[in-house]
Amino acid sequence: MALKLADYKTNVHNDWCPGCGDFGIVNSIQMALAEMNIPRHKASIFSGIGCSGKTSHYINVYGVHTLHGRVLTFAQGAKLVNPEMTTIAVGGDGDGLGIGAGHFVAAGRRNIDMTYIIFDNGVYGLTKGQASPTLKLGEKTKSLPTPNTNYNVNPIGLAVASGFTFVARGYSYDVRHLKDLIKAAVEHKGLAFLDVLQPCPTYNDINTRDWYAGKDLMEEAQQRHSRIYKLEEHEFDPVVHYSEESELNEKLSQALIKSLEWGNKIPIGVFYKNEIITPYTGRLEDKIPNYRENPPALQKISRDGKPITDVSKLLDSLEV
Ligand code: SF4
Repeated sequence: MALKLADYKTNVHNDWCPGCGDFGIVNSIQMALAEMNIPRHKASIFSGIGCSGKTSHYINVYGVHTLHGRVLTFAQGAKLVNPEMTTIAVGGDGDGLGIGAGHFVAAGRRNIDMTYIIFDNGVYGLTKGQASPTLKLGEKTKSLPTPNTNYNVNPIGLAVASGFTFVARGYSYDVRHLKDLIKAAVEHKGLAFLDVLQPCPTYNDINTRDWYAGKDLMEEAQQRHSRIYKLEEHEFDPVVHYSEESELNEKLSQALIKSLEWGNKIPIGVFYKNEIITPYTGRLEDKIPNYRENPPALQKISRDGKPITDVSKLLDSLEV
């Protein structure tokens, strides 16, 4: 039976601030799951700590609200024990690119077949708006007493350099486009990263909805233009088509160059896509031939109410 959008919603009270970009991201995930008709028992959402951490409470699939900076470790482990599960990890830019930055890089190297979405708003919203890793040097939001003293992390550039094989950026107020990006990320064979620009109206008064819409900008024709434009509308081809080093280097380079574009023109869409690189699960199958048919999640752990595995030796070895 086909599931509807409403089937992916929960009754949990939502306590995000009015106008928060988080709403658009959650709606986009729900729309993507509904359009792909993914059964709820075959999808799981893992969230980190921060405002975005509530996401796993608001989507009616399996979910775990994990630890600060550790969402990728939970999600990767879950995907490995149950490779048929559609697995999506979410978190803020502070969570994923601050305390979680080491896991971000390590995950890119593994290329496990799942999706990671960062809610990128430039502040630590849950703890009153301190500067987070994506806030630019010298910017002073209304929540900061002085301008930011650190350079920012470039999430797209870091993902490309770390080995993510699908790297894209969306905008939380362009829900249909974001939904299509999420579908493409979930369908991608490998680790997909989505950096979602998400205005925080409560603490970030620089990167606002009006700012992204370019309300402060005037072209020569005295007309405003949105800062945001879509790569796919500008003949940008992010796909690595052949296993030739020259093409790979060209696609990596153009993604990195595009990732530096910011200010009056901000690209969204897919920056890089490479399905030629084997996902980690594929490499596991080379080592464990029946991994797909008999992954850990399907293995019996008890018989007649008694555990099959004898851990007494292990417990004895832990005695002090
Ligand atoms: Fe959204 Fe910012 Fe409010 Fe957090 S503090 S819920 S990110 S508007």
